Amino acid sequence: MIIVLKPNFSEEQLQHICQKIEEMGFRYELSRGVQRTLLGVIGEEDELRNAPLKAIAGVEDVLSVLKPFKLASREFHEEDSVFELGHGVKIGGGSMALIAGPCAIEGPEILLEIAKEVKAAGANVLRGGAFKPRTSPYSFQGLGEEGLKILREVGDETKMPVVTEVMDPRQVDLIDQYTDILQVGARNMQNFNLLMEVGKTDKPVLLKRGMSATVQDLLMSAEYIIAHGNKQVILCERGIRSFDSSTRNLLDLAMVPNVKGLSHLPIVVDPSHATGRPDLIPSMALAAVAAGADGIHIEVHSCPEKAMSDGPQALLPNQFTELAKQIQELAQVFNKKVATTP
Ligand code: PEP
Ligand code: MN
Repeated sequence: MIIVLKPNFSEEQLQHICQKIEEMGFRYELSRGVQRTLLGVIGEEDELRNAPLKAIAGVEDVLSVLKPFKLASREFHEEDSVFELGHGVKIGGGSMALIAGPCAIEGPEILLEIAKEVKAAGANVLRGGAFKPRTSPYSFQGLGEEGLKILREVGDETKMPVVTEVMDPRQVDLIDQYTDILQVGARNMQNFNLLMEVGKTDKPVLLKRGMSATVQDLLMSAEYIIAHGNKQVILCERGIRSFDSSTRNLLDLAMVPNVKGLSHLPIVVDPSHATGRPDLIPSMALAAVAAGADGIHIEVHSCPEKAMSDGPQALLPNQFTELAKQIQELAQVFNKKVATTP
Protein backbone atom coordinates (compact mmCIF):
# COMPACT_ATOMS: atom_id res chain seq x y z
CA MET A 1 0.00 0.00 0.00
CA ILE A 2 1.33 3.43 -0.89
CA ILE A 3 0.17 6.61 0.81
CA VAL A 4 0.50 9.70 -1.37
CA LEU A 5 0.82 12.84 0.76
CA LYS A 6 -0.85 16.11 -0.20
CA PRO A 7 1.60 18.51 -1.92
CA ASN A 8 1.36 20.96 0.99
CA PHE A 9 1.47 18.47 3.89
CA SER A 10 3.08 19.65 7.11
CA GLU A 11 5.82 17.83 9.03
CA GLU A 12 3.41 17.49 11.98
CA GLN A 13 0.91 15.78 9.73
CA LEU A 14 3.62 13.46 8.45
CA GLN A 15 4.63 12.54 12.00
CA HIS A 16 1.03 11.95 12.91
CA ILE A 17 0.50 9.69 9.87
CA CYS A 18 3.63 7.66 10.70
CA GLN A 19 2.48 7.29 14.31
CA LYS A 20 -0.96 6.10 13.18
CA ILE A 21 0.58 3.54 10.82
CA GLU A 22 2.68 2.15 13.66
CA GLU A 23 -0.31 2.09 16.02
CA MET A 24 -2.15 -0.03 13.47
CA GLY A 25 0.76 -2.49 13.61
CA PHE A 26 2.24 -1.74 10.17
CA ARG A 27 5.74 -0.70 9.10
CA TYR A 28 6.50 2.08 6.64
CA GLU A 29 9.24 3.50 4.44
CA LEU A 30 9.35 7.18 3.52
CA SER A 31 10.20 8.37 0.01
CA ARG A 32 10.66 12.12 -0.45
CA GLY A 33 10.62 12.78 -4.18
CA VAL A 34 11.00 16.03 -6.06
CA GLN A 35 7.29 16.14 -6.86
CA ARG A 36 5.60 14.00 -4.23
CA THR A 37 6.28 12.44 -0.87
CA LEU A 38 5.15 8.87 -0.46
CA LEU A 39 4.93 6.37 2.36
CA GLY A 40 5.21 2.68 1.54
CA VAL A 41 3.17 0.86 4.14
CA ILE A 42 4.22 -2.73 4.72
CA GLY A 43 1.83 -5.30 6.13
CA GLU A 44 -0.82 -7.79 5.09
CA GLU A 45 -2.59 -6.31 2.05
CA ASP A 46 -6.03 -7.43 3.29
CA GLU A 47 -5.61 -5.77 6.67
CA LEU A 48 -4.19 -2.66 5.02
CA ARG A 49 -7.10 -2.40 2.64
CA ASN A 50 -9.50 -2.14 5.58
CA ALA A 51 -7.44 0.40 7.52
CA PRO A 52 -8.86 3.96 7.36
CA LEU A 53 -5.63 5.48 6.07
CA LYS A 54 -7.31 7.91 3.70
CA ALA A 55 -9.09 9.61 6.59
CA ILE A 56 -5.86 10.93 8.12
CA ALA A 57 -5.10 14.63 7.57
CA GLY A 58 -2.37 15.26 4.98
CA VAL A 59 -3.17 12.08 3.02
CA GLU A 60 -4.17 12.65 -0.58
CA ASP A 61 -4.53 9.11 -1.79
CA VAL A 62 -3.95 5.51 -0.81
CA LEU A 63 -2.88 3.19 -3.60
CA SER A 64 -2.81 -0.55 -3.54
CA VAL A 65 0.35 -1.93 -5.15
CA LEU A 66 -0.57 -5.16 -6.81
CA LYS A 67 3.00 -6.13 -7.54
CA PRO A 68 4.62 -8.27 -4.86
CA PHE A 69 7.64 -5.95 -4.72
CA LYS A 70 6.74 -2.60 -3.25
CA LEU A 71 9.76 -0.69 -1.99
CA ALA A 72 11.63 -1.58 -5.18
CA SER A 73 8.72 -0.44 -7.36
CA ARG A 74 8.46 2.67 -9.51
CA GLU A 75 5.11 3.40 -7.88
CA PHE A 76 6.83 3.84 -4.53
CA HIS A 77 9.69 5.96 -5.85
CA GLU A 78 8.97 7.73 -9.11
CA GLU A 79 12.43 9.13 -9.82
CA ASP A 80 15.47 6.99 -10.57
CA SER A 81 17.39 6.18 -7.40
CA VAL A 82 20.91 7.57 -7.28
CA PHE A 83 23.57 6.07 -4.99
CA GLU A 84 27.01 7.32 -3.97
CA LEU A 85 29.66 4.67 -4.47
CA GLY A 86 32.73 6.52 -3.17
CA HIS A 87 35.40 8.89 -4.57
CA GLY A 88 32.62 11.03 -6.07
CA VAL A 89 31.22 8.22 -8.22
CA LYS A 90 27.46 7.99 -8.46
CA ILE A 91 25.17 5.52 -10.14
CA GLY A 92 21.67 6.26 -11.46
CA GLY A 93 19.87 9.27 -12.86
CA GLY A 94 22.37 10.07 -15.61
CA SER A 95 25.49 8.91 -13.77
CA MET A 96 27.02 5.72 -15.05
CA ALA A 97 29.32 3.31 -13.26
CA LEU A 98 32.05 1.63 -15.28
CA ILE A 99 33.09 -1.31 -13.16
CA ALA A 100 36.22 -3.18 -14.23
CA GLY A 101 38.89 -5.48 -12.91
CA PRO A 102 39.91 -9.11 -12.77
CA CYS A 103 37.55 -11.92 -11.87
CA ALA A 104 39.68 -12.84 -8.85
CA ILE A 105 42.23 -10.92 -6.80
CA GLU A 106 45.46 -12.85 -7.42
CA GLY A 107 48.07 -10.69 -5.71
CA PRO A 108 48.98 -7.04 -4.98
CA GLU A 109 51.21 -6.34 -7.99
CA ILE A 110 48.91 -7.79 -10.63
CA LEU A 111 45.82 -6.10 -9.16
CA LEU A 112 47.59 -2.74 -9.00
CA GLU A 113 48.74 -3.13 -12.59
CA ILE A 114 45.21 -3.92 -13.81
CA ALA A 115 43.65 -1.21 -11.62
CA LYS A 116 45.96 1.47 -13.05
CA GLU A 117 45.15 0.37 -16.59
CA VAL A 118 41.36 0.34 -16.13
CA LYS A 119 41.44 3.63 -14.27
CA ALA A 120 43.45 5.28 -17.02
CA ALA A 121 40.88 3.97 -19.49
CA GLY A 122 38.04 5.58 -17.52
CA ALA A 123 36.73 2.86 -15.19
CA ASN A 124 35.37 4.38 -11.99
CA VAL A 125 34.85 1.26 -9.84
CA LEU A 126 37.39 -1.54 -9.30
CA ARG A 127 36.15 -5.11 -9.01
CA GLY A 128 37.86 -8.27 -7.81
CA GLY A 129 36.74 -11.43 -6.04
CA ALA A 130 38.36 -12.55 -2.79
CA PHE A 131 35.82 -15.29 -2.07
CA LYS A 132 35.00 -17.02 -5.35
CA PRO A 133 31.92 -19.15 -6.01
CA ARG A 134 33.58 -21.81 -8.18
CA THR A 135 31.68 -24.65 -9.79
CA SER A 136 34.46 -27.07 -8.89
CA PRO A 137 35.75 -27.42 -5.32
CA TYR A 138 39.21 -28.00 -6.84
CA SER A 139 39.33 -24.61 -8.59
CA PHE A 140 40.97 -21.53 -7.06
CA GLN A 141 38.63 -20.31 -4.32
CA GLY A 142 40.11 -16.83 -3.88
CA LEU A 143 42.61 -15.31 -1.45
CA GLY A 144 40.01 -14.66 1.25
CA GLU A 145 40.78 -11.88 3.75
CA GLU A 146 44.25 -11.42 2.26
CA GLY A 147 42.52 -10.61 -1.04
CA LEU A 148 40.21 -8.12 0.66
CA LYS A 149 43.22 -6.27 2.11
CA ILE A 150 44.84 -6.11 -1.31
CA LEU A 151 41.64 -4.84 -2.91
CA ARG A 152 41.25 -2.12 -0.27
CA GLU A 153 44.86 -0.99 -0.63
CA VAL A 154 44.74 -0.92 -4.42
CA GLY A 155 41.35 0.86 -4.38
CA ASP A 156 42.79 3.50 -2.02
CA GLU A 157 45.96 3.89 -4.04
CA THR A 158 44.13 4.29 -7.34
CA LYS A 159 41.27 6.27 -5.73
CA MET A 160 38.47 4.02 -6.93
CA PRO A 161 35.60 2.58 -4.94
CA VAL A 162 35.80 -1.23 -4.84
CA VAL A 163 33.29 -4.05 -5.16
CA THR A 164 33.74 -7.66 -4.09
CA GLU A 165 31.49 -10.66 -3.66
CA VAL A 166 30.05 -11.90 -0.38
CA MET A 167 28.84 -15.49 -0.50
CA ASP A 168 27.89 -16.24 3.07
CA PRO A 169 25.94 -14.30 5.73
CA ARG A 170 28.81 -15.01 8.14
CA GLN A 171 31.22 -13.09 5.87
CA VAL A 172 29.20 -9.89 5.69
CA ASP A 173 30.83 -8.14 8.67
CA LEU A 174 34.34 -9.00 7.51
CA ILE A 175 33.83 -7.96 3.88
CA ASP A 176 31.96 -4.83 4.96
CA GLN A 177 35.17 -3.64 6.66
CA TYR A 178 37.08 -3.63 3.37
CA THR A 179 34.70 -2.90 0.53
CA ASP A 180 32.61 0.04 -0.71
CA ILE A 181 30.04 -2.12 -2.51
CA LEU A 182 28.92 -5.63 -1.58
CA GLN A 183 28.29 -7.98 -4.49
CA VAL A 184 25.73 -10.76 -4.20
CA GLY A 185 26.50 -13.20 -7.00
CA ALA A 186 24.11 -14.95 -9.36
CA ARG A 187 24.38 -18.19 -7.40
CA ASN A 188 23.28 -16.44 -4.23
CA MET A 189 20.52 -14.21 -5.56
CA GLN A 190 17.98 -16.18 -3.57
CA ASN A 191 20.13 -16.85 -0.52
CA PHE A 192 17.57 -15.08 1.64
CA ASN A 193 19.69 -15.19 4.80
CA LEU A 194 22.46 -13.43 2.90
CA LEU A 195 20.02 -10.85 1.48
CA MET A 196 18.74 -10.09 4.99
CA GLU A 197 22.30 -9.72 6.29
CA VAL A 198 23.45 -7.32 3.53
CA GLY A 199 20.15 -5.53 4.12
CA LYS A 200 21.44 -4.59 7.58
CA THR A 201 24.54 -2.86 6.21
CA ASP A 202 24.76 0.68 4.87
CA LYS A 203 26.76 -0.24 1.75
CA PRO A 204 25.36 -0.35 -1.79
CA VAL A 205 24.66 -3.93 -2.86
CA LEU A 206 25.31 -5.12 -6.44
CA LEU A 207 22.66 -7.83 -6.78
CA LYS A 208 23.30 -10.12 -9.74
CA ARG A 209 20.43 -11.88 -11.44
CA GLY A 210 20.35 -15.62 -10.79
CA MET A 211 20.91 -17.75 -13.85
CA SER A 212 17.35 -19.05 -13.82
CA ALA A 213 15.73 -16.08 -12.12
CA THR A 214 12.82 -14.19 -13.61
CA VAL A 215 12.73 -10.40 -13.52
CA GLN A 216 10.20 -10.66 -10.70
CA ASP A 217 12.47 -13.03 -8.74
CA LEU A 218 15.27 -10.46 -9.04
CA LEU A 219 13.05 -7.62 -7.87
CA MET A 220 11.78 -9.72 -4.96
CA SER A 221 15.37 -10.33 -3.89
CA ALA A 222 15.99 -6.58 -4.06
CA GLU A 223 12.85 -6.14 -1.95
CA TYR A 224 14.37 -8.42 0.72
CA ILE A 225 17.42 -6.18 1.01
CA ILE A 226 15.39 -2.96 1.08
CA ALA A 227 12.86 -4.37 3.55
CA HIS A 228 15.75 -5.07 5.92
CA GLY A 229 16.83 -1.45 5.89
CA ASN A 230 19.23 -1.01 2.99
CA LYS A 231 17.77 1.01 0.13
CA GLN A 232 20.91 0.98 -1.96
CA VAL A 233 20.34 -1.95 -4.27
CA ILE A 234 21.95 -2.00 -7.73
CA LEU A 235 20.53 -4.67 -10.01
CA CYS A 236 22.78 -6.54 -12.42
CA GLU A 237 21.89 -8.46 -15.56
CA ARG A 238 24.61 -11.05 -16.18
CA GLY A 239 22.89 -13.45 -18.53
CA ILE A 240 20.55 -16.35 -17.93
CA ARG A 241 20.86 -20.05 -18.78
CA SER A 242 19.62 -21.07 -22.19
CA PHE A 243 19.64 -24.12 -24.45
CA ASP A 244 22.30 -22.56 -26.65
CA SER A 245 25.87 -23.21 -25.58
CA SER A 246 27.44 -20.86 -28.13
CA THR A 247 27.61 -18.19 -25.46
CA ARG A 248 28.23 -18.77 -21.74
CA ASN A 249 24.78 -17.41 -20.85
CA LEU A 250 22.06 -15.57 -22.74
CA LEU A 251 22.19 -11.80 -22.24
CA ASP A 252 18.66 -10.55 -21.60
CA LEU A 253 18.97 -6.92 -22.68
CA ALA A 254 15.23 -6.37 -22.87
CA MET A 255 15.15 -6.72 -19.11
CA VAL A 256 16.89 -3.35 -18.81
CA PRO A 257 14.04 -1.16 -20.16
CA ASN A 258 11.59 -3.66 -18.71
CA VAL A 259 12.98 -3.27 -15.19
CA LYS A 260 13.34 0.49 -15.64
CA GLY A 261 9.57 0.65 -16.04
CA LEU A 262 8.99 -1.51 -12.98
CA SER A 263 11.61 -0.20 -10.59
CA HIS A 264 13.55 2.92 -9.61
CA LEU A 265 16.74 0.95 -8.90
CA PRO A 266 19.83 1.37 -11.09
CA ILE A 267 20.78 -1.50 -13.39
CA VAL A 268 24.23 -2.65 -14.39
CA VAL A 269 24.88 -4.99 -17.30
CA ASP A 270 27.71 -7.51 -17.17
CA PRO A 271 28.45 -8.70 -20.73
CA SER A 272 31.53 -10.61 -19.51
CA HIS A 273 29.64 -13.29 -17.59
CA ALA A 274 26.67 -13.01 -19.95
CA THR A 275 28.58 -13.93 -23.10
CA GLY A 276 31.85 -15.38 -21.82
CA ARG A 277 33.37 -14.23 -25.12
CA PRO A 278 35.73 -11.26 -25.53
CA ASP A 279 34.70 -10.95 -29.19
CA LEU A 280 31.09 -10.27 -28.16
CA ILE A 281 31.65 -8.17 -25.04
CA PRO A 282 32.22 -4.76 -26.72
CA SER A 283 29.08 -4.84 -28.86
CA MET A 284 26.95 -6.13 -25.99
CA ALA A 285 28.36 -3.47 -23.63
CA LEU A 286 27.41 -0.74 -26.11
CA ALA A 287 23.99 -2.29 -26.69
CA ALA A 288 23.50 -2.24 -22.91
CA VAL A 289 24.22 1.50 -22.82
CA ALA A 290 21.66 2.00 -25.59
CA ALA A 291 19.16 -0.14 -23.66
CA GLY A 292 19.42 2.27 -20.72
CA ALA A 293 21.88 0.58 -18.36
CA ASP A 294 23.24 2.70 -15.50
CA GLY A 295 26.48 0.81 -15.41
CA ILE A 296 28.65 -1.67 -17.27
CA HIS A 297 30.65 -4.38 -15.55
CA ILE A 298 33.62 -5.87 -17.41
CA GLU A 299 36.31 -8.34 -16.43
CA VAL A 300 39.80 -7.23 -17.45
CA HIS A 301 43.10 -9.04 -17.04
CA SER A 302 46.57 -8.08 -18.23
CA CYS A 303 47.42 -11.71 -18.94
CA PRO A 304 44.18 -13.68 -19.42
CA GLU A 305 46.01 -16.94 -20.08
CA LYS A 306 47.49 -16.81 -16.59
CA ALA A 307 44.26 -15.68 -14.87
CA MET A 308 43.20 -17.92 -12.00
CA SER A 309 39.50 -17.50 -12.79
CA ASP A 310 37.47 -16.59 -15.90
CA GLY A 311 40.60 -15.88 -18.02
CA PRO A 312 38.92 -16.81 -21.34
CA GLN A 313 36.35 -14.01 -21.00
CA ALA A 314 38.73 -11.26 -19.81
CA LEU A 315 39.37 -8.26 -22.03
CA LEU A 316 42.95 -7.10 -22.36
CA PRO A 317 43.60 -3.60 -20.99
CA ASN A 318 43.97 -2.13 -24.50
CA GLN A 319 40.67 -3.71 -25.60
CA PHE A 320 39.01 -2.28 -22.50
CA THR A 321 40.51 1.15 -23.20
CA GLU A 322 38.99 1.19 -26.67
CA LEU A 323 35.62 0.02 -25.35
CA ALA A 324 35.58 2.49 -22.44
CA LYS A 325 36.04 5.33 -24.93
CA GLN A 326 33.07 4.13 -26.98
CA ILE A 327 30.94 3.67 -23.84
CA GLN A 328 31.66 7.25 -22.79
CA GLU A 329 30.82 8.59 -26.23
CA LEU A 330 27.60 6.62 -26.47
CA ALA A 331 26.58 7.56 -22.92
CA GLN A 332 26.59 11.22 -23.99
CA VAL A 333 24.06 10.47 -26.71
CA PHE A 334 21.69 9.41 -23.93
CA ASN A 335 22.56 12.39 -21.71
CA LYS A 336 24.55 10.23 -19.35
CA LYS A 337 28.06 10.48 -18.03
CA VAL A 338 30.68 8.11 -16.71
CA ALA A 339 32.16 10.09 -13.80
CA THR A 340 35.92 10.18 -13.52
CA THR A 341 37.61 9.45 -10.21
CA PRO A 342 40.25 11.79 -8.71
C1 PEP B 1 31.78 -12.59 -10.76
O1 PEP B 1 31.36 -11.42 -10.82
O2 PEP B 1 32.98 -12.89 -10.80
C2 PEP B 1 30.79 -13.68 -10.72
C3 PEP B 1 31.09 -14.86 -10.19
O3 PEP B 1 29.63 -13.35 -11.29
P1 PEP B 1 28.23 -14.15 -11.37
O4 PEP B 1 27.74 -14.26 -9.96
O5 PEP B 1 27.39 -13.25 -12.23
O6 PEP B 1 28.50 -15.48 -12.01
MN1 MN C 1 34.14 -13.87 -13.06
